[in-house]
Amino acid sequence: MKCEKCGKENKKNASFCKFCGENLLNPEEPLTLSFMLKSLFVIYVLIFTFYVAYLALEKPFQDFAYGIATKY
Ligand SMILES: [Zn+2]
Repeated sequence: MKCEKCGKENKKNASFCKFCGENLLNPEEPLTLSFMLKSLFVIYVLIFTFYVAYLALEKPFQDFAYGIATKY
């Protein structure tokens, strides 16, 4: 199994990382700092992607919405 702290490979049933001493038995804390940073990064990338897509598609989308609005 891979060490959460240093990323090095340890034996499958190892209790502690032999490289950095990290406890490998309970690495699944849901709200660690790295987990939160990863989540924030993913959210930021998603928002940025949608923002860029919005900027790129704003004009054609407005034309499209205008076309629908005037159709009915
Ligand atoms: Zn380690």
